[in-house]
Amino acid sequence: MADTNIVILGNGGAALYAARAVREAGHPGEVHLISDTAECAFNPMLSPYYFRGKVAWENCFPFGAQFYHDLDIVPHCGVPVASLEARAQLITLEDGKQLPYDRCLVATGASPVLPPVPGLRESARAFPLRSASTARMLDEAMKTARRVIVMGASLVGIEMTEVLIKRGVEVIVVDVANQVMPRGTHPSVAAILLKYLEGKGADVRLGIGMEKIQDKPHSVVCHLADGSVEEVDLLVCSTGVRSNLDFINRDEVEVELGIITDERMRSNIENLYAAGDAAQAYNRITDRHDWMGTWGNACSQGRTAGQQMVDIDAVYPGSLPENISPVFEWSYAQIGDIQPATGEVRHLSCGDPEGEGYSLLVFRDGVLVGTNLINCTELSGKVRSAILKEWRCESTLQLAEDEFTEAAVKRILNECTAAQ
Ligand SMILES: Cc1cc2nc3c(=O)[nH]c(=O)nc-3n(C[C@H](O)[C@H](O)[C@H](O)COP(=O)(O)OP(=O)(O)OC[C@H]3O[C@@H](n4cnc5c(N)ncnc54)[C@H](O)[C@@H]3O)c2cc1C
Repeated sequence: MADTNIVILGNGGAALYAARAVREAGHPGEVHLISDTAECAFNPMLSPYYFRGKVAWENCFPFGAQFYHDLDIVPHCGVPVASLEARAQLITLEDGKQLPYDRCLVATGASPVLPPVPGLRESARAFPLRSASTARMLDEAMKTARRVIVMGASLVGIEMTEVLIKRGVEVIVVDVANQVMPRGTHPSVAAILLKYLEGKGADVRLGIGMEKIQDKPHSVVCHLADGSVEEVDLLVCSTGVRSNLDFINRDEVEVELGIITDERMRSNIENLYAAGDAAQAYNRITDRHDWMGTWGNACSQGRTAGQQMVDIDAVYPGSLPENISPVFEWSYAQIGDIQPATGEVRHLSCGDPEGEGYSLLVFRDGVLVGTNLINCTELSGKVRSAILKEWRCESTLQLAEDEFTEAAVKRILNECTAAQ
């Protein structure tokens, strides 16, 4: 145990929570950390807050340089992992350097994916957002932009729409989906958010793909699937991410969207663990192993993996899909499963976003499994706790959805929060 040589691949929240757990357990052996960049760990979710002027640039690096020193980590920075031989327990970096390991954690996160639109990948004016370097490039490009297309009406796409509109930029949002924020937002809630965004000046075009993109010397011409053509200064791409696992041999390691892990963050190969956006872990709401893509779940998985690598039998309790974010002057929360695939499902809503706040509660077989909250996110802690405790409401099994009056749903919401 004392001589166990631990190698952590990646340098984000999952990687550093693992490293911290290893040292907190008193592990005296070597801990190596491999990062494809030379910078300290970056928190990608803070970049929209930086663009909004709410977080200083240096605070987007929450662990700082001292962290590695204090934890006696041996950093290998600026060279990506090229291959991992899981059975041989050997890592090769792109510069040819080899590192054998006793225990290894894959925490290499994810990278933006651009759809196969002709001209998009070659465009010098198309900016995805993830790493510190992509945030810096986008920051620079936004300084002179007057007209922008945001591709993808995801939470990140909407955050960037807000950033741009508040800087006086004309914004067109384009998405092939028929609603904004399709991941985690019920269509009825998306319709409320859409109206609000349009009121703020966003030109949102849903159900429309991008067909072709052509760079010009000082602009980019975008051909949309409905036949319209828009000339803009730049494109902000928020079109999804894919786990960084090119170095993994999929004949050895079981991978779907991420490395499949068990409740101890172990892969199918002994001594190989995975966490964060590189992993697919237990989702306590859906009871499946899902890819999650959220900071809190990544860090918590990293911590469990770190403890496991030093023989502490920690068990990951399971992920909870969760995002709480400002949308212009509104606050918005999405927690749990909004569109359960099985069971008898009820979506009950009450309130008013401009008044006391709007709540949507999702029940599966009488059990609360999800919520969308607008302008009452102060309830999110209690509703979250009710979801985790599998709070039941029998009447949701007895009545049809249209039999629930506004007053009845408010009563259910009050009962639910009072019970926490
Ligand atoms: C703009 C934006 C907004 C977001 N907003 C939210 C939010 O509001 N709430 C929320 O919960 N989550 C949010 N997220 C998601 C959240 O940031 C991620 O889920 C989280 O950062 C995942 O952490 P991770 O450590 O698994 O991966 P990452 O943060 O991606 O870190 C992976 C690390 O591995 C390194 N790496 C990659 N490949 C290699 C390689 N081959 N060799 C060596 N190193 C490698 C990378 O450089 C990086 O340092 C947001 C993400 C973005 C981009």
